Amino acid sequence: MNNTHYRIKEIFYTLQGEGAQAGRPAVFCRFSKCNLWNGRESGRAEAICDFCDTDFVGTDGQLGGIYSAAELINIVVGLWPHYGNDNEGTPYIVCTGGEPLLQLDSELIDSLHQARFEVAVETNGTLPAPDGLDWICVSPKANAKVVLTSCNELKLVYPQPLAMPEQFEHIDAQHFYLQPMADYRSEFIATDRSVHNLSANTTAQTLAYCLQHPKWKLSLQTHKLLGID
Ligand code: SF4
Repeated sequence: MNNTHYRIKEIFYTLQGEGAQAGRPAVFCRFSKCNLWNGRESGRAEAICDFCDTDFVGTDGQLGGIYSAAELINIVVGLWPHYGNDNEGTPYIVCTGGEPLLQLDSELIDSLHQARFEVAVETNGTLPAPDGLDWICVSPKANAKVVLTSCNELKLVYPQPLAMPEQFEHIDAQHFYLQPMADYRSEFIATDRSVHNLSANTTAQTLAYCLQHPKWKLSLQTHKLLGID
């Protein structure tokens, strides 16, 4: 184990809600911080990525904290049901954020592998990935150069006028997904008719694009439809 400590917003066990792994049980480990927004409403107007609906600031979420690799693995193992029973499937962890590649390193990945976890990452693609990841999902953002041009899954929030699907078709990915943009205000003013209209509108636009460009598949945030984390 190395001496690095990782700043973690929250850790929880749920189902992956999006993309090619949708429906798969997973431990989600949300790393603090992002390189495209400081996470504060006061900084949204200046952010490179300005539609984020995730709270990744600090370490105050469920099981959040500053952990060594050993401490982190203890928590993750403790969340996996029937850990050690091979008949219950391969333990799976999704490293998300914020931007997990600001912190995730090969040492932590190796430690997770030693604990028999399959390791996935959800990244904005602007930083190189450490060796050893089992599943890479890149979600590009407008005005943010993608350097990770090889991944398992490309998941583009749509529409982003400055990040349209054609700009990313050169990326080497097994799956190309478009996901309707959700209004970041929806958590705060869920009864606002304009928010519902925007979400319905972006879903219709995304559906239409996929039908016209079958390289792309529709990804819905099924965890939100199910009302789970
Ligand atoms: S890149 Fe991801 S985590 Fe960072 S601000 Fe954008 S949506 Fe949020």
